Amino acid sequence: MRQPLVAGNWKMHGSRADNARLIGALAERFPATDVACAVCPPHVYLSEVGRMLRAAELPIALGAQDVSAELKGAFTGEVSVSMLEDLDCSYVIVGHSERRKAEGEDDHLVARKFDAARSKLVPILCVGERLGERQEGETLAVIARQLDAVLERCGAIGFGGAVIAYEPRWAIGTGMTASPEQAQEVHVFIRRHLAQQDAKIADEVRILYGGSVNAGNAAELFAMPDVDGGLIGGASLKAEEFLAILAAAGR
Ligand code: PEP
Repeated sequence: MRQPLVAGNWKMHGSRADNARLIGALAERFPATDVACAVCPPHVYLSEVGRMLRAAELPIALGAQDVSAELKGAFTGEVSVSMLEDLDCSYVIVGHSERRKAEGEDDHLVARKFDAARSKLVPILCVGERLGERQEGETLAVIARQLDAVLERCGAIGFGGAVIAYEPRWAIGTGMTASPEQAQEVHVFIRRHLAQQDAKIADEVRILYGGSVNAGNAAELFAMPDVDGGLIGGASLKAEEFLAILAAAGR
């Protein structure tokens, strides 16, 4: 049985005051739940948000939005896996489509980041197709290519304990959401693709859906048998909405 996970990607939003307000609002109503929960603030706030989560005794893990593929050295502006570990981060997102697009991260670099992260943190590998690729019927080929880059570098064993987030690019921050059936089709494909190399790891890996998840559509997405929770962007910045999504992920 896979434990569902709901992770909030705060993207480049927030301030120290906003973060304190958001965590305060989450603390007021955080339910007893069997769903794992994480938030991924910008790097500069990780330390303080971690302190606030501990002070509020919230069972919310800390995650980062990105990490360097390099372990240490002369890489100005970069943040290493061991630095994130030092800040008590548990998760790190790699290959988010906003980084693949705006920062030109390709499958190879994403695979290197995943590989660097997996020894100390739980990587959340984002995969997903563009609208044009879906319209051309290329969705599954794109997902396979993105997975294969990681499989070639780390093998199926690399996905042991890891998380995959299926995030169709056309659904991120657009208000357009994949239908539950569209999400399920891709999630099953991901699991079968991994199962060709390791059936146990494929069965155990958690596959989140991300792309305009909100309090209104979360339950039907999470009801799909291969959807193990969500990676939540915009809606994770509103406590009520995020908590409603968390409740929808309970089994
Ligand atoms: C995301 O940032 O990973 C995301 C899914 O964003 P949104 O929920 O806003 O579409």
